[in-house]
Amino acid sequence: MTDINETHDPALTSWIESANGPTADFPVQNLPYGVFSDGASGSPRPGVAIGDNILDLRLIEAAGLLPTEQPVFDGQSLNAFMALGRAGWSATRSALSRLLSTDGDSRLRDDPELSERALVPRAKCQMHMPVAIRGYTDFYSSREHATNVGKMFRDPENALMPNWLHIPIGYNGRASTVVVSGTDVHRPMGQTRAPGAEGPQFGPCRKLDIELEMGALIGGGNPMGRPISVTEADAMIFGYVLLNDWSARDIQVWEYQPLGPFQAKAFATTISPWVVTQEALEPFRVHGPAQSPVPLPYLVQRGAYNFDVQLEVRLTPDGSSDSTTICRTNFKHMYWSSAQQLTHHASSGCAMETGDLLGSGTISGAERDSLGSLLELTWNGNEPLELASGGSRSFIEDGDILTLYGRCRGDGYNVGFGEAGGKVLPAVDFTGET
Ligand code: MN
Repeated sequence: MTDINETHDPALTSWIESANGPTADFPVQNLPYGVFSDGASGSPRPGVAIGDNILDLRLIEAAGLLPTEQPVFDGQSLNAFMALGRAGWSATRSALSRLLSTDGDSRLRDDPELSERALVPRAKCQMHMPVAIRGYTDFYSSREHATNVGKMFRDPENALMPNWLHIPIGYNGRASTVVVSGTDVHRPMGQTRAPGAEGPQFGPCRKLDIELEMGALIGGGNPMGRPISVTEADAMIFGYVLLNDWSARDIQVWEYQPLGPFQAKAFATTISPWVVTQEALEPFRVHGPAQSPVPLPYLVQRGAYNFDVQLEVRLTPDGSSDSTTICRTNFKHMYWSSAQQLTHHASSGCAMETGDLLGSGTISGAERDSLGSLLELTWNGNEPLELASGGSRSFIEDGDILTLYGRCRGDGYNVGFGEAGGKVLPAVDFTGET
């Protein structure tokens, strides 16, 4: 855990006006990292969001305003920076905080030529994948979600599997189809078996769903064969993004035994473009639910390892201006923390690397409207949701836009995550081809 320091001071303001005030998602206390381009100057490059602007990190690093010893912002991803580890992340955050604060280091503010070039309006920019994802592992760490799924598909009396309270359950997903917010997603084709049918069929998924999750991004790593403690794991988490683990429920239910989900999850995972650092989240640390039975010693965490992040999902039908909020929940409810997930992941000796992405698992709360998937919200399609624009949904239809939002509410300021959205396009049916 990083201590609360001067970068978290609620009284800090920025000389960039749009970063101030109770509605700004990117105040000087946040400083999330992303990769952007604008029409004028071409190639994708790292930046930090501040109010309505993006500060070009390649440019200000080259100008000598950052404490990095070697250039880490001269590429098209955050990986080189993430590999520095916690001391480098913290020194850079501190320097950025001073450069962008009203009463800080005035070298950027007092250089109109440099600040004019280095600050780009966000509205003019396109966002890209912030990180070259090395591996993507998805967990299953909400007790409410695991219980709901267990009730639906297994035994209502014994909804949690016997291992669930002892192991952060996960599976290895696909890094190749992790995409940034705004990327269209085709409805997957797949093999399904209708209830009562003798055999399977192949065709477009009929039960397309979302999973509202957070993704932890790893910086640094461990050599193969050398596990990591929970404390070390916590220090290796660079930051978090919003994550939608798109899921094909009809494909999943037919394929998932005995090795877990495969094609039902492999077609797309959408993340938000801004990585909110774990250091920015320090004021929002909270204790997770009490873990009972006490986990095995290698998984015991002492202290606050969860984060209070308010989350929301909206569904917007094709061409409609009316979106419907289908879920409101909070990251703080997770039973297993990201640090415990990472420790368990490396516990066999599995090497973790800079750019690894750990999905938290669907984040469901205890209330009816706090469930993080349509599977739960509609109870496997049996209780359709009414939409503000008219009509209803059991699962996602072609043309629907699904968008995740996240925000921490601080003392007079927010730490916002922005959004992670994607539009669903019709399936690409190749079955007539040879
Ligand atoms: Mn998932």
